Amino acid sequence: MSYEMNIRKVVPYTPGEQPAGKVIKLNTNECPYPPSPRVMEAIRATGEEELRKYPDPDCKALISAIASYYRLSEDQVFVGVGSDDVLSMCFLTYFAGDKPILFPDITYSFYDVWAEVYRIPYKRIPLKEDFSVDAEDYRVENGGIVLANPNAPTGIFTGLEDIERILSASPDSVVIVDEAYIDFGGESALTLLPRYENLVVTRTMSKSRALAGLRVGYAFGSPKLIKYLSDVRFSVNSYTMNSPALRAGVAAIEDHDYFCEIRDKVVATRDRAERELRELGFSFQKSSTNFIFAEHKECPAEEIFQKLKEKNIYVRYFRKPRIDNYLRISIGTEEEMDRLFEALREILSDR
Ligand code: PMP
Repeated sequence: MSYEMNIRKVVPYTPGEQPAGKVIKLNTNECPYPPSPRVMEAIRATGEEELRKYPDPDCKALISAIASYYRLSEDQVFVGVGSDDVLSMCFLTYFAGDKPILFPDITYSFYDVWAEVYRIPYKRIPLKEDFSVDAEDYRVENGGIVLANPNAPTGIFTGLEDIERILSASPDSVVIVDEAYIDFGGESALTLLPRYENLVVTRTMSKSRALAGLRVGYAFGSPKLIKYLSDVRFSVNSYTMNSPALRAGVAAIEDHDYFCEIRDKVVATRDRAERELRELGFSFQKSSTNFIFAEHKECPAEEIFQKLKEKNIYVRYFRKPRIDNYLRISIGTEEEMDRLFEALREILSDR
């Protein structure tokens, strides 16, 4: 067909499964606890009138709540429909040059998809043998850099000294630090914002604030970079954020005590899960996230993945070079993790 040649063809990103029915879902790094009760109140308080009319295109209330929580000015904050939307807009805005952008070979698998769809040249920089980032590897000509920190799916945090090294070696490129998991460990690059005008930090309410279903993400940067990002967003879609999400986002950010409570529970369960998994013969690096990226000494990851699925326990498995013997296990409630350990014990002793 002749129209075929005019069509943009892409290989899409594959999100983790969202199975129907009662399963133990440890495959997409969602929060196992409900969002703050104040979020539910905020959604219920959305009136008919608000649904009838378009939402605030400037997302003022949400931007203002986020800015005051992080002690930034409002012109340093951008919001979007989950950090996927924020990151996608960042790629479209900041990576318009000809030189390849850089990101690790093992990282969030949406980066190469956005690069492909927006036709951005890119180069994957191999992580070291232990999956850590070598900042020196990024000291090459580039059109931009993206680093998930802590990284996914490895769960490993790269120290801020290394992030600074990368920022200062590429002053002519925008460096995006994707901090989807930062609330669970590590140190935010937010403190570097006053010193590096080429830095953009992205965040999400999907993990530590239990709002994956609502889709709220945000970014921090200099007023100049945020303005460029906003201009692109307004050139694609003025109303990305819907009214209930705008209200709920404010409630989620304002309920700091509840945020601390659920984050601390996830971190405590993760620390316990690390001990249990080690006893079961798994090995992994220290996780700074709400998941553990583990390999078993004797049993292939794909086999464990399939057998867990038969028991209605979903974890994530990537059939990809270097990581095809690893499982990414999200941290669930204590009870869900107990069921996981029990299932693993059965699977491993049956062999
Ligand atoms: N960055 C990383 C590293 C992630 O793992 C995820 C979750 N899939 C996201 C960004 C996007 O999350 P969300 O769109 O839910 O904010």
